Amino acid sequence: MSAGLLAVVSDIHGNLEALEAVLADLDRRGVEHLVCLGDFVGYGASPNECIDLLRPRLEAAVVGNHDVAVLGRIQLGSFNSEAAVAARWTRDSLSPENRSYLETLPDTVVWRDMRLVHATPSEPRAWHYVLSIRDAEEEFAAFTETVCLIGHSHYPGAFRLGPKGLDYGRGEDDFPIEPGCRYIVNVASVGQPRDGDPRAGYLVVNPETATITPVRLEYAVKDAAGRIVAAGLPTYLAERLKWGE
Ligand code: ZN
Repeated sequence: MSAGLLAVVSDIHGNLEALEAVLADLDRRGVEHLVCLGDFVGYGASPNECIDLLRPRLEAAVVGNHDVAVLGRIQLGSFNSEAAVAARWTRDSLSPENRSYLETLPDTVVWRDMRLVHATPSEPRAWHYVLSIRDAEEEFAAFTETVCLIGHSHYPGAFRLGPKGLDYGRGEDDFPIEPGCRYIVNVASVGQPRDGDPRAGYLVVNPETATITPVRLEYAVKDAAGRIVAAGLPTYLAERLKWGE
């Protein structure tokens, strides 16, 4: 890996206020390289604004289930009712250019020696969640890189596979990429946190020190929630941003 800080964002979900806070923080830290793990859209009221802002800064990106749903490639029956309403609304709101962009996104990609995928490396399009040690155990066999970065669950944390076996940490503090260990790191959601912390989340990777830094940031939650209500989207989608659930 070349020097320079890397950052990973995921699950933006059309939340412009959260994305703006994250991008401002990246600039403050001097992050040089950025990737996105998918779910650019869905739930939030600013899908075009988010893609327009993020796309020019991305070195790589993969597709999320909400992106695929907006493209009409998933039966919305698998979504809860608010998610389905938001997917239809987003489908009608998305510009042709941004729709084409989502169409180009791959399921998984290797970027700077790290595996990127929205849900799981074993079956990227099955949209499984990696929530337990048992879930993670199977997934380590599905990629060969040292680090796999995932999103999808909106629950940040890191699974570490080392000589002593597999363990899990919430990943609230910086942690090292230790020699002889492999990792599946679940990145926090930028635009719809669900771990009880309403702050926007993302990750910074420092390749020089082999350190991963999870970041959480206050943002204008009220404004993002207000846009959701103003767009006529389900008010529950606005409310949950305030709780982070
Ligand atoms: Zn998501």
